[in-house]
Amino acid sequence: MKYDVTVIGSGPGGYIAAIRCAQLGMKAAIIEKYNTLGGTCLNVGCIPSKALLDSSEHYHNAAHTFGDHGIELKDLKVNLKQMIDRKASVVSQVTGGVDFLMKKNKIDVYHGMGSFIDKNTIKVTDSEGKETQVETDKVIIATGSKPASLPFIEIDKKRVITSTEALELKEVPKHMIVIGGGVIGMELGSVYGRLGAEVSVVEFMDDIIPSMDKTMGRELKKSLKKLGFNFYLGHKVTEVKSTTKTVTVKAENKKGELVELKGDYCLVSIGRRPYTDGLGLENVGIKTDDRGRIEVDGHLKTSVDNIYAIGDVIKGAMLAHKAEEEGVFVAEVIDGQKPHINYNLIPGVVYTWPEVSAVGYTEEQLKESGRAYKSGSFPYRALGRAQASMDVSGLVKVLADKETDEILGVHMIGARTADMISEAVVAMEFRASAEDIARMSHAHPTYTEAFKEACLAATDNRALNV
Ligand SMILES: Cc1cc2nc3c(=O)[nH]c(=O)nc-3n(C[C@H](O)[C@H](O)[C@H](O)COP(=O)(O)OP(=O)(O)OC[C@H]3O[C@@H](n4cnc5c(N)ncnc54)[C@H](O)[C@@H]3O)c2cc1C
Repeated sequence: MKYDVTVIGSGPGGYIAAIRCAQLGMKAAIIEKYNTLGGTCLNVGCIPSKALLDSSEHYHNAAHTFGDHGIELKDLKVNLKQMIDRKASVVSQVTGGVDFLMKKNKIDVYHGMGSFIDKNTIKVTDSEGKETQVETDKVIIATGSKPASLPFIEIDKKRVITSTEALELKEVPKHMIVIGGGVIGMELGSVYGRLGAEVSVVEFMDDIIPSMDKTMGRELKKSLKKLGFNFYLGHKVTEVKSTTKTVTVKAENKKGELVELKGDYCLVSIGRRPYTDGLGLENVGIKTDDRGRIEVDGHLKTSVDNIYAIGDVIKGAMLAHKAEEEGVFVAEVIDGQKPHINYNLIPGVVYTWPEVSAVGYTEEQLKESGRAYKSGSFPYRALGRAQASMDVSGLVKVLADKETDEILGVHMIGARTADMISEAVVAMEFRASAEDIARMSHAHPTYTEAFKEACLAATDNRALNV
């Protein structure tokens, strides 16, 4: 069979690219090495982690805040198997949804490992070793990423685990040691922290979620400490050893002092590496950079004329919605259109509680670039909505240009900021000033009023309710 476009990898980058190609009239195929479609995000990433975050948050509230709401419960306990089963059924619903979308858009699905024979021919080897050849005019590589590790850490997948195993545990850890204070570590640490595990985070940098605005890391750390997290920041892990029942992690601080932590599980969440194993890039002459990422130009084209790459396997934020935007972009480029992605306005979210959400520049980036800016913040505790629901931890911080008042960055921590950040994205896409937002009516009582008030504070230090 000969296709106009063949996509390798069915994650949010790949399956969205295939749909957009089909919408534009191209005959498209998608190749996926696993039996289910949807990639990391739907199978072992965004969706299952959010399913467990929601379940564990319900439990935590039932245990700690229901009483204040006047709801009395007896014999509350965690049924982890049921939680994991529910997560599995959510995963199967959403991956089944991708099957449906492929059929609806008449996209041919090949299950098996895709590997280049030449720039127009891909060999697909299925789990039984059967080979099929796919002929294609254009190719979109969307093979995503895998968890990264350190050379001296052996991931045994039982005691020393990655995010993938953390979504499948059979018991609530007594003491989970998390290596890496980034998004995935804080989210999955929260799941088990809420269910009663002691959680210790060892992070090389001086802050958690270090790529985000420093205020966010500081505030999140306060909330997670209340949940019972221990933090070993500025600590470099030097050794990880496991037995059948225990894990020992050794780390060293900047003064060379050693700490030794003993736990029953160690989650290694130090980031992810682009995945191109077995893809046969050498057969078409595509090179990867020093971090293993496929190099692409401004049109997301590789060094080979008919081959494009998108998502986690190329540079940029490793986020599902970034991969999706690139999937649409590349389909439209192939169609001869002139699409555009504003990479500065791709929001980032950490689904802890409180949630952390951001778009645009951080205060640290603005300082470093020398741009004159002003800042306005508004605390959640001053919101009627937050008081009503007892979610008073958090703040919204707005950074705006000192002269023009244009919003340059929005950083939020608090209940439901993952949904609230979209307003900031829209505002910034339309190059709104802080005062533009400050003069728009926001429904009362809602959390969104915190954004309006922070914009008032940034405009001219005139927040009203604080
Ligand atoms: C625990 C966790 C939580 C996350 N939470 C979020 C979140 O809340 N929000 C967010 O935006 N992002 C989140 N992410 C990141 C998100 O999952 C990724 O950014 C996203 O999946 C990248 O999409 P992709 O299409 O580039 O690749 P992937 O989703 O990784 O998909 C790549 C697919 O390609 C397949 N493949 C690879 N090589 C071949 C080959 N040679 N032949 C055939 N198939 C192949 C793989 O099997 C895989 O299915 C999370 C990640 C993890 C691990």
